[in-house]
Amino acid sequence: MSAVINENLAPQTLVSLRNLNKHYGDFTAVDNISLDIQDGEFLTFLGSSGSGKSTTLSMLAGFETPSSGEILVSGKSLVNVPPHKRDIGMVFQRYSLFPHLDVRDNIAFPLGIRKQSADEQKRKVDAMLKLVQLEQFAHRRPAQMSGGQQQRVAIARALVYEPRILLMDEPLGALDKKLREDLQDELRHLHRRLGITIVYVTHDQEEAMRLSQRIAIFSHGKIVGLGTGYDLYQNPPNAFVASFLGNSNFLRAKAAGHAAVQFEEQSLAITPTGNLQSGQDVLLMLRPEKAQVLLPEQAQQTPLPAGWNEISVQVSEVVFLGESLTCSVITKGGTRLTLKSLSGSQQPLQAGAHARVRWAASDACLYDTWNESDLKVHH
Ligand code: ADP
Ligand code: MG
Repeated sequence: MSAVINENLAPQTLVSLRNLNKHYGDFTAVDNISLDIQDGEFLTFLGSSGSGKSTTLSMLAGFETPSSGEILVSGKSLVNVPPHKRDIGMVFQRYSLFPHLDVRDNIAFPLGIRKQSADEQKRKVDAMLKLVQLEQFAHRRPAQMSGGQQQRVAIARALVYEPRILLMDEPLGALDKKLREDLQDELRHLHRRLGITIVYVTHDQEEAMRLSQRIAIFSHGKIVGLGTGYDLYQNPPNAFVASFLGNSNFLRAKAAGHAAVQFEEQSLAITPTGNLQSGQDVLLMLRPEKAQVLLPEQAQQTPLPAGWNEISVQVSEVVFLGESLTCSVITKGGTRLTLKSLSGSQQPLQAGAHARVRWAASDACLYDTWNESDLKVHH
């Protein structure tokens, strides 16, 4: 009995990318990607421009042919299946709707190609107009609508023939921030109602966080991080992901046993880690909101909890951001850190003040290998 229940709950793989490569001449755009996409999930490819997201998506859609590797849907190879037979819908950033057709005819277009009856087409288009809340715009042409409305038409057109998988490549990239956030909420709700599988491409980390159940982080044609936004943020698998997703402080230190590091002539506790050689270079990563900044007299009155670290710093700048406050500090050894707290949650600090920075050892991440370029990621 329980085995059956577990089987029902286990996520099913719908799409498998296996050792997928795409070369343009001697340039590698997609570098040996392997990834399982679950049936019904909302997965986002997140990465800076040129990292291989669109090329990977295009191979899945069938617009690009892999140089090598496999794409399986429900275990069957897709590589020789033409795009229109893949049961996949696609929405691009600048999906030009047919300008001479009204909204209704734009949405009906894929059904016409598939030779569905007029009744069937009407029923499906009506359902789509309702889904994207454009019933009252059915007879407008694209030029008579806003960018956000046009993109909703493009989404309806991609969904009308009920594909199992919807691919979206920066579909909201051309819209302004407020509208983008509204459409992100709509898309999330749409996904929940339809239960289809969505693979979404963006370079915007906040968008990826807002929309997705899982995020695949791309860099130089590879997937360098895969997981929920929460896990990737709280426990980045490497310094690149730590640096790319959110803000991070890096402290250069040397291993000292398996539960401590030496940082600027001070010993700091770390979460116990195996296979560290004493003296080897390590990197501690601390998220800005994981640390507390205290004035020296506050620190004196508040004992340091067990398992916490404290370092002395000088405040270089405090910036009030409304709901939060960022505080830039510098250590005696010249390491700069940026810390963040909710405004009102602590005493205001002045630039120039001496202060103490505290954090729980378990809140810092430790890396023993990294590239220097990983620490200065440009979004
Ligand atoms: P992203 O979508 O992450 O911005 P792309 O997948 O579009 O990145 O591109 C990845 C890399 O492949 C880029 O460096 C891009 O210049 C290169 N590239 C993409 N398409 C072609 C092509 N048709 N010919 C040559 N290089 C290409
Ligand atoms: Mg792209």
